[in-house]
Parts: sequence; structure tokens; C-alpha cells
Amino acid sequence: MDPWFAKAIILLASIVLVAIRAPHGQRSRGIPVVRSRKGTMEIVLLTIAWFAFFLPLIWVATPLLASADYPLRPVPLFGGTLCLVFGLWLFHRSHAELGANWSITLEVRENHRLVTEGLYRWVRHPMYLSLLIYSAGQALVLPNYVAGPSYGVAMALLFAVRVGAEERMMLEEFGKDYEAYMARTKRLVPGLW
Ligand code: SAH
Repeated sequence: MDPWFAKAIILLASIVLVAIRAPHGQRSRGIPVVRSRKGTMEIVLLTIAWFAFFLPLIWVATPLLASADYPLRPVPLFGGTLCLVFGLWLFHRSHAELGANWSITLEVRENHRLVTEGLYRWVRHPMYLSLLIYSAGQALVLPNYVAGPSYGVAMALLFAVRVGAEERMMLEEFGKDYEAYMARTKRLVPGLW
């Protein structure tokens, strides 16, 4: 298949991802931070995530990664597109539900409220889940050994390193309420894990 199908889908998905996040990013910059855990590790993780987000766009726009290309096939293209659409929907919903309590890094904001409804009733990290599903979609759609899995590797790393620290921060901030929330929810997969 013509790789332009994959290029168009990756470009569109990246634009939608940025468009969903943009208003939340802008709003969060206006809300004072009362507690921050943004250490060196967070800066490293966020830098890797940005780099991994741009690699697919470099693949779309330039021939720099062409030596790692492989042929595009319809089944992964279709399955990957479904994952991208579902991941973007989850990303949009989790942003909407987290509202003004969202931060790009480990931070507690002024008037921070513990969200436990909607998607957060089922799992504690629906936004990370959405990004992992999105990344799986990208890996399937994008026929390149480097740019295809790049965002997935970055998101898996971010999740693995950050999630424990995030939960400790939430426990310190919300005490018994977060403890009870942890007792009745799983991290990523409802009822399982
Ligand atoms: N881990 C969550 C949120 C990611 S954004 C998810 O995947 O959906 C990260 C920030 O969200 C953290 O710094 C924390 O301040 C905030 N946060 C995480 N879980 C929250 C919750 N249940 N309610 C309110 N804020 C939360």
C-alpha cells in the first residue's frame, strides 16, 4: 500500500492530539502550583516524550528515517487507525474529566480536587491508558521500525517510572480519600491491573 495513507493518518492524529491538549495546557498555566515533584527524572521523561512525539512527524515530512521503512499492509493500518481513534477519544474524555486538576508533570494545583468519577471510576490512570492505546495505534499504522514504536517506548517508560511517584504524591495530598480510591480501582485495566 502507498505509505501516504499512513502519513495522512499520522499527521491528522498528531494534530488532533495537540488540539485536544492545547486548551488544557493554556488553562493549567494560569492556575498556581502548590506542590511540585518536577525533578530531573521528570524533565528527562518529558524531553524523551517530546522527542518521541516528533519522530513520526519527521518520518512524515522527510526521508531521514527511510532506511528503517517496511511495506504498509491493510490489516495493521486498519487496526492501528481504530486504536488511534479510540485512544484520542479516551484522551479527550480523561482531559475533560480531570479538568483544571490536570498537569503535564507531577504537580498539585490550587484548589486541587480528587477526581473519582467518569473514567476515573474505572481506572486511576485513564489518560496514560489513552496514550498507550494511541501509541499502539501509531506503531501499527506507521511502517517504520524507528518512528513507529517511538512514542510507545516513551509512554511505557513514562508510565513505568512516573506512576508510583504520582500515586505517592496523591496519597500525601488526599490521604485516606486516595487510599480508599486505590482500594477500589486498578491502575490501567478495569478489574485486572
Ligand atoms: N494519571 C492520571 C492523570 C495524568 S495527568 C491519568 O492517567 O489519567 C498528571 C496529574 O494529574 C498529576 O500531577 C496529578 O496532579 C493529577 N491527577 C492524577 N490523578 C488524579 C485524580 N484522580 N484526581 C485529580 N487529579 C489527579
